[in-house]
Amino acid sequence: MVLPWLFQLEVSNQCNSDCFICPRKHLGLKPHTMTFEEIKPIIDSLKRNGHQLTQFHPYRMGEPLLCKDLERITKYVQDNLGIWTYLFTNGSLLTEERIRSLLSVPIAQIAISVDGAGPDYEKLRKNLKWKTLVRNVNNLCKIRDEMGSKTLVIIRYSFLPETPGVENQLRAAFPIVYGIVGDKFDHWGEDRIPKLPCEFLSSHFTVDANLNLLMCCKFSTHSLGKINGDMDIMKFWQERTEPLRIETDYKRMPHDCLICNKDKD
Ligand code: SF4
Ligand code: SF4
Repeated sequence: MVLPWLFQLEVSNQCNSDCFICPRKHLGLKPHTMTFEEIKPIIDSLKRNGHQLTQFHPYRMGEPLLCKDLERITKYVQDNLGIWTYLFTNGSLLTEERIRSLLSVPIAQIAISVDGAGPDYEKLRKNLKWKTLVRNVNNLCKIRDEMGSKTLVIIRYSFLPETPGVENQLRAAFPIVYGIVGDKFDHWGEDRIPKLPCEFLSSHFTVDANLNLLMCCKFSTHSLGKINGDMDIMKFWQERTEPLRIETDYKRMPHDCLICNKDKD
């Protein structure tokens, strides 16, 4: 039986920025930030009914640090499902107090998303300040070392035509992070023929901020149904993803798969 290994939970679909590359505003999301009480029954059900999850990613569309229950949710997932957490954040809300609280959970890896450096950063990441980001990330590394934490801190940026040479600027600004990784810019929305079966339909268990089971962790908002703590959630995941996994005609796949950028060079 196929079971997913990655648990992606959109703890918030809201954000304190409005980046020009961000697809959020085009997706018609119902704005919501999760509470611990909303997600606890889901975690309890996974524990009760079984799972094979190994990684927890508490983010999708939105800024996860807007969720005041993020640490509580993460700790509960780790303690009850026995899986490690990988966090992705824009880094703007990493105050010293928040850094200590996150590192105490603990978290395996914190990736900071950055597009551009200096004035380019502020142009691309509306409402965010470059100086604040540099201070926050360097504080994160410093406090991590002081606390003897093993959390990896990395910088992720997108290759954009607007920011040539950004990697060198990022290396100068963040000398003590573990790694600086460039990603292809996501050209979501262009027509293409998906490669079937899509591996994400076997590996990802993705839940949005309104408790919809989604197809995958990509920009898709295609809901496979609402989940709740009374159901056997992995059985529900099986039933809803199986027909898509065995579909061989791309024309019968949900529309989001036809405009997805997965596997596209
Ligand atoms: S910080 Fe991330 S979630 Fe927020 S607007 Fe930018 S790309 Fe979107
Ligand atoms: S939207 Fe893309 S990543 Fe998601 S299931 Fe479809 S082809 Fe796969």
